[in-house]
Amino acid sequence: MELDVSSPQDQGLVDQTLRQGFRGLRFPAALERAFVIQHADERTFKLIVAGLYSLLVFGGILLADYLMMPKELPLAITMRVGVYAPVVLVLLKVLHRLSLPQLNEWMVVLVGLFASGIMVFLSATSAEPLAYVKLVELIIVVIYVAVFARFWPMVVLSALVMVIHLVAMSAAHDVIGTVKISSFLLLATTMMFALYGTYKREHNDRLAFLLDLREQALRLTLQEANARLDTMARTDALTGVPNRRFFDEFLAQAWSRAATLGQPLSLLLIDVDHFKAFNDRYGHQAGDRCLCVVAEAIASCLRRPVDVLARWGGEEFVVVLAEADTEAAAEVAQRVRQAVQDCALPHVASVTARVVTVSVGVATAWPAAQGSQADLLQRTDTALYQAKATGRNRFCADEAVAQKVGALA
Ligand code: GH3
Ligand code: MG
Ligand code: MG
Repeated sequence: MELDVSSPQDQGLVDQTLRQGFRGLRFPAALERAFVIQHADERTFKLIVAGLYSLLVFGGILLADYLMMPKELPLAITMRVGVYAPVVLVLLKVLHRLSLPQLNEWMVVLVGLFASGIMVFLSATSAEPLAYVKLVELIIVVIYVAVFARFWPMVVLSALVMVIHLVAMSAAHDVIGTVKISSFLLLATTMMFALYGTYKREHNDRLAFLLDLREQALRLTLQEANARLDTMARTDALTGVPNRRFFDEFLAQAWSRAATLGQPLSLLLIDVDHFKAFNDRYGHQAGDRCLCVVAEAIASCLRRPVDVLARWGGEEFVVVLAEADTEAAAEVAQRVRQAVQDCALPHVASVTARVVTVSVGVATAWPAAQGSQADLLQRTDTALYQAKATGRNRFCADEAVAQKVGALA
C-alpha cells in the first residue's frame, strides 16, 4: 500500500520515525518502500553513469600497469578492456531493463567486487617486483563505490574486498611484512572513512525525505484547515445554509454571468410571519428550530443547482434564481410559501394562520439591459413589504403587484 501523507496514521509513522531515529538506516516497511520508490529513477541514473564512468577509470589504470608491471600489460588490457568492460556493460543493461531499485544498490557491490577481483588477479599472477604494491589500487574501488553506494551495500563490499586483500596478502610469500602491513592499514583506514561518509550521506538523505514528508503533511493540514475556515466563514451556523457574505459574493457572480449571457436574474426575499410572537410564545430555542425547519423547507423547493438559498439575517432568507424571469420566480415563491405552510409548525400567536407561514418578495432584473444589484434588492424588499402589507402568507412580485399576488392559504 502506498504512503499517504494525508492519513493521520502515516503522519504518525513519519513523526515516530523522526523521534526515534533510524540508526540502522532502515525505516518501517511502508516508509522504506516510499523512500526507495521516490529515489528509484534518480538512483538508477546515477548508478548507470557511475558504471559507465568506471570503465574509464578502470581502463585508465592501464597506465599504472604499464609503469609498474610492463610485462603484464597484454594481460591487463585483456582483463580490463576485454573482460571488465563488456561484463559491466551487460550488467548496466540489465540494471536499466529490470529497473528494480533494490537490486541496483547490490549491483554496485557486484561490479566493485568484480573490479577488485581483476585487480588482485593481475597483482597475484605477476612476478614483477612492484606487483604486490598494486593491491593498494583496491583503495580506488573502495572510494569510488563509496561516492555512489548506499551504506549497507558498502559495508558488504568493504568486507569482501578486505577478505580478498587478506587472501592475497597471505598468499604473497615473497613480500616483506612491513609492505603487507602498510598496504593493509592503508586499505583499512580508507574503508573506515569511506564507510563513515556513506553512512552520513544516506542518513542525511533519509532525514531530508522524512522532513519533506512532514512538511507535505503540515501543508495539507493547513490547506484543510483553511478550506474549513473558508466554508465556516460563508455558512450560517444555525441553519447550515450559506450566509449573507456568501450571498453577496454569489449575487455579484450571478449578476455578471447573467449580464454576459443576456439572461434574467430573480430574487426571492422570504420573511417568517410574526416570528417575534413565535419566539415570545414558544421560546428562543424553539424559534431557532423553527428557522432550521423553514430553511429546509425553502431548500426543498429549489430544484436546479443554479438556485441558491442564503440566510439574509434574523428570520429572513434570500434565494437567487439564475436564468429565471418573474413568472418562473413567482412559481418558486409560491412553492416556498406552500412548503413552509405544509411543515405545519404550530404558531398559535400568529394572527395570519394557526401555523408558521412566510411572506415572499419577488423581483427580476435583466443585468445585460439595465439596473443594478442594489436596485434589484431594493425592489425585492419593496415586494416583500407589499406581501406583508397585503396580509402575509403570500408572495408579491415587484412589478404589477396587484395582479401578481400569490394564493392565500
Ligand atoms: P413580521 O410578520 O412583520 O415579519 O413580524 P416579525 O415578528 O416576524 O418581525 P420582527 O422583525 O418584529 O421580529 C423578528 C424577530 O426574529 C425578532 C428577533 O428576536 C427574531 N430573531 C432574529 N434572529 C433570530 C434567531 O436567530 N433565532 C431566533 N429564535 N429568533 C431570531
Ligand atoms: Mg424580518
Ligand atoms: Mg418576520
